[in-house]
Amino acid sequence: MPDMIDTVLLAAPRGFCAGVEMAIKALTWMVRVFPAPVYCYHEIVHNASVVEGFERAGVVFVESIDDVPPGAPVMLSAHGSAPEVVAAARERGGVMIDAVCPLVTKVHHEVKKRAADGFDIIYVGHHGHDEAVGTMAEAPEAVSIVDPDEGLDRFIPRDPGRVALVAQTTLGLFEWESVLDDAKRRFPHLWTARRSDLCYATTNRQEAVTALAKRCDVVLVVGSENSSNTQALVRVSQAQGTPSFRVDGPEAVDARWFTAAETVGVTAGASAPDQSVRAVIEAVGDIGGEVLRVTTEDEYFPLPPSLRTLLAALQAVVEGGYTARLPGRPGLLQDDRSWGAAEALDVLAD
Ligand code: SF4
Repeated sequence: MPDMIDTVLLAAPRGFCAGVEMAIKALTWMVRVFPAPVYCYHEIVHNASVVEGFERAGVVFVESIDDVPPGAPVMLSAHGSAPEVVAAARERGGVMIDAVCPLVTKVHHEVKKRAADGFDIIYVGHHGHDEAVGTMAEAPEAVSIVDPDEGLDRFIPRDPGRVALVAQTTLGLFEWESVLDDAKRRFPHLWTARRSDLCYATTNRQEAVTALAKRCDVVLVVGSENSSNTQALVRVSQAQGTPSFRVDGPEAVDARWFTAAETVGVTAGASAPDQSVRAVIEAVGDIGGEVLRVTTEDEYFPLPPSLRTLLAALQAVVEGGYTARLPGRPGLLQDDRSWGAAEALDVLAD
């Protein structure tokens, strides 16, 4: 890398959110409890290295529940699934664990409730994204998807007095606010959630990358191409006028980006492992990293209830022999807070 780079600034918060932590730990438990293969509907989180790590550990990712053999254990991804997918997974007859993030579930509930109340619902999100597909399936007859770039011109409600606006949790804040303002102008009685559908991790990481971009000549965002919140971080950073690039890992770092750069910023999407962030920093020049923190997060989402029940039952039944323990890691469910998804990925690689 060019010698000119003298500072690497690290955004904080960055990387894994509470929903991703929970989902990765949950699938790690599934891999340890059941013999391979364990099935997972959709990528557990949108990150290539995380998915590859699980594939090496015996997880088979499927795009259709029909591809899960009857009786096989299956996990549903953090992005949330359509109700018919959840039902079909349950009907396969094996253990089914839904690792949906509770903040995605919140939006599912909003859609169900507003549709039942006779609202036409605008869902601001990205066409074809797993989260959008799963959420809209709660009430397909009532929901219209609008990409933040498209605007609302084509949305014609049955009753302009009964319109609701909900969002994919990982949108760019400025893109969401522009649709929200437009919707409020068009529909003065608009219903929208009191607490924004954009999740805490999305907004915190965007706030952090905004501060980072203001201080850096170039910003690198670690994350995969199909990660919506990663792509939003790139756009938010670019909106500050700072050249910003998404990289999956160190092999994607291009020295030509830094020809005139003294300060390089690094952040990571909510599904990008710290292992990838550290490798990218080393690729930039291993200059050590100064942390630029805008807020501290302490959110924690417990494992899905059905998985907790399963693990507790295993421990109770086979006490003294098998203890549902990961090597060198907590063996009791009440210890779940004491280890993280980064360690879970290390367990997979053991
Ligand atoms: S980005 Fe937000 S909604 Fe998505 S898994 Fe993380 S906390 Fe949940």
